[in-house]
Amino acid sequence: MRLFRDTIKGGDYRAREANVYRLAEVSGDIIDQCVAQGVPFARDYSGMLDNRSFGGAQVSRTFYARGQTGQQLLLGAYGALSREISRGTVTLHTRSEMLDLVVDNDAQGVARARGIIVRNMVTGDLERYAAHAVVVASGGYGNVYYLSTNAMNSNVSAAWACHRQGALFANPCYVQIHPTCIPVHGDYQSKLTLMSESLRNDGRIWVPKRKEDAEAIRRGEKGPNDIAEEDRDYYLERRYPAFGNLVPRDVASRAAKERCDAGYGVGTGLAVYLDFRDAIQRLGRDVVEQKYGNLFQMYQKIVDTDPYEEPMMIYPAVHYTMGGLWVDYELQTTIPGLFAAGEANFSDHGANRLGASALMQGLADGYFVLPYTLQNYLADQIYVGKVESNTPAFDAAEQRVRERIERLMGIAGKSGLSGDSGISDAPANSQLSTLNSQFHSVDHYHKALGRIMWEYCGMARSKESLATAAQKVAELEDDFYQHVCVPGTADSMNPELEKAWHLADYFELARLIVADATQREESCGGHFRVEHQTADGETLRDLSLIHI
Ligand SMILES: Cc1cc2nc3c(=O)[nH]c(=O)nc-3n(C[C@H](O)[C@H](O)[C@H](O)COP(=O)(O)OP(=O)(O)OC[C@H]3O[C@@H](n4cnc5c(N)ncnc54)[C@H](O)[C@@H]3O)c2cc1C
Repeated sequence: MRLFRDTIKGGDYRAREANVYRLAEVSGDIIDQCVAQGVPFARDYSGMLDNRSFGGAQVSRTFYARGQTGQQLLLGAYGALSREISRGTVTLHTRSEMLDLVVDNDAQGVARARGIIVRNMVTGDLERYAAHAVVVASGGYGNVYYLSTNAMNSNVSAAWACHRQGALFANPCYVQIHPTCIPVHGDYQSKLTLMSESLRNDGRIWVPKRKEDAEAIRRGEKGPNDIAEEDRDYYLERRYPAFGNLVPRDVASRAAKERCDAGYGVGTGLAVYLDFRDAIQRLGRDVVEQKYGNLFQMYQKIVDTDPYEEPMMIYPAVHYTMGGLWVDYELQTTIPGLFAAGEANFSDHGANRLGASALMQGLADGYFVLPYTLQNYLADQIYVGKVESNTPAFDAAEQRVRERIERLMGIAGKSGLSGDSGISDAPANSQLSTLNSQFHSVDHYHKALGRIMWEYCGMARSKESLATAAQKVAELEDDFYQHVCVPGTADSMNPELEKAWHLADYFELARLIVADATQREESCGGHFRVEHQTADGETLRDLSLIHI
């Protein structure tokens, strides 16, 4: 009951209660399932599974595997999948990317998902897969912001292909910005690193109380250890005494931004301290090392300062997307026969996801929901024979993909820079540099899109900033279709083409995120409209519930 309540409250009352209730009901089974798959959850002295607190929860109930819970859950699931592959019950298609969804009318004229078009990423061949139902579990879309904690190849394209075919997309503007990440350190960075939320169990977050101290730290004249205890502002403990450093992620992120915007940031000015001094004094270095040693080591390797001696510097970064394909209670999208699971759907987290619950939801969807709800759907399809892939619907979908690839390859191809002639056949050097000044790489556009989204549709949004975002995204998209250079050929391995395909979808998604954020005249969870806040700077929800 507590998990249900915390998830609903943490999501700012924007989640569908029935789904969350089911999630809470199966949460214990998920842990049993994972233990059976060999996930090495931490155990206490008596051998029972141990647990700890996480952001947004006032009780200790999160099962964990040191600072690597997510990775260990992945390894457990992957091990179980590998077993099924070797038994022949599952066929794994690596290096294959779904580019389109095939929707076809059945005998009664009902449009149903009947398969997908896939690009073989090694040969560039387009392949057809036909089925009675399609499940999309392709993850979230945080990389629309370019810099995020997500894997660099994580993208929205599969879900967006479904949206282009008519599946509704829900709550796209609910983006979670995680409070404990290593701050941005330069223009050429392509990825941000998450420091596990578990660190907030024992670490204390602070900035200097006095602006002069913060400025001296930024100039390098003072270090954190030069700031006396009474001159430190433990702003989360001050503002939220009930939760302290374990407030939900959206609250912690906004509070860090507020302090930095007010001039109290450290490092580049966009960072706050996460300090283990008191934990080390209270528990001893050995205990802290046992709990968080791997995270401390990772931090030291990236930042080159010792977090046992000096507090870590952290800043919020894009981490998770609560929005996604709209699904009903059965996890079916608005296209019959198309199901969405995990981060790709919008189902359980409302406007903000609580710590540790992404994998819980993904595992619930995969192990405890879809095996039953897919059957409900397939029971109705029992009289439908083998679905063939040589139908006009498949021809049309494949043609759509070919045309889009040709369009992307053709933009700079017309100038001899890419396309069928290939970059190596490009004009002589002097000519090439002239052309290069007109054309830009996919990454150039992706970075620019990310900057627009972060600046104008990030942690704080206003009517004006969103109008600016809409205009800038449209201008950039226009420029992309005139000046992006995709080298290589379509019929071979071509990572630049893959990135260009993803980015073309991100442009469309960005427009939808901005439109959603503009229409949503309220603040809740990851969506903070500056026009809708309390006198204390907290989110002000629209209580008429029209946004649910
Ligand atoms: C650094 C980090 C740490 C995290 N730690 C935790 C944690 O401790 N606990 C927790 O609960 N959550 C955590 N999360 C969140 C959680 O990992 C994700 O929400 C979760 O992995 C989403 O699972 P998924 O299966 O829905 O999608 P993903 O794990 O993103 O998997 C999607 C898969 O689909 C594939 N794919 C995508 N597009 C296509 C396509 N077009 N064709 C074919 N395949 C495609 C991808 O290659 C990928 O294999 C963390 C996330 C990050 C980034």
